[in-house]
Amino acid sequence: VLELVDVVKAYGDQPVLRGISLRVDPGELVAIVGPSGSGKSTLLHVIGTLERPSGGVVRIDGVDVAGLDDRRLADLRASRIGFVFQQFFLSAHATALENVADGMLYAGADVRTRRRRAAEALDRVGLAHRMRFTAAKLSGGERQRVAIARALAGRPAIVLADEPTGNLDSAAGATIVDLLHELNAEGATILVITHDNQLAASLPRQVHVLDGRQVPYGQEVMTRAAAPQ
Ligand code: ATP
Ligand code: MG
Repeated sequence: VLELVDVVKAYGDQPVLRGISLRVDPGELVAIVGPSGSGKSTLLHVIGTLERPSGGVVRIDGVDVAGLDDRRLADLRASRIGFVFQQFFLSAHATALENVADGMLYAGADVRTRRRRAAEALDRVGLAHRMRFTAAKLSGGERQRVAIARALAGRPAIVLADEPTGNLDSAAGATIVDLLHELNAEGATILVITHDNQLAASLPRQVHVLDGRQVPYGQEVMTRAAAPQ
């Protein structure tokens, strides 16, 4: 269970999250939507313990993460959480396989297991034929899929995906959406940020963020009106 209680996040004196309370049960598939700059990526980073909140509580399976030091947080992430970053963060000169295998460095698996799982994950996103390409040589959509494979390879219980279809055409995007549903059916809890209103509406639950706050149910149409597209 993921629980946020009145979470606040500021950078310097700039408030970005202004009090978010949220509970996500195991096995949920949740869309996070809202205009650019509203705090969606920051919210995902705080949920994933990559950023510590400035106030409020984040609990993962009942554990208040504020009580964990950086080392324990890294262990928690490695064992439980898969990230798809909005900016990918791939190593340009490493191959797709290396990028995905290196994503499991902290998970404690040996080299052979990492490479095997990396190959399986790349196959799952349709990139078996690109495993030996360096990230620099891949198209934007292929890089997107490598980033997704890296998130899946560790078989995380929780997947946090930031615009995982943002760089894909509609056919490739649909493949990724199918994959998210598959992972969810296998038991993963998934939070996915998306600008695609159609995708968001097709998921079982939507969380609307506007200016660092959740928009109350029934007023979410305002979020759409305020969105740039
Ligand atoms: P987008 O849809 O464009 O990705 P977003 O909803 O994901 O937007 P965030 O990336 O969470 O928005 O950013 C929200 C606000 O917080 C922005 O004004 C951004 O400039 C600011 N911000 C985010 N990260 C930092 C940081 N590390 N330091 C300072 N300000 C930050
Ligand atoms: Mg973002």
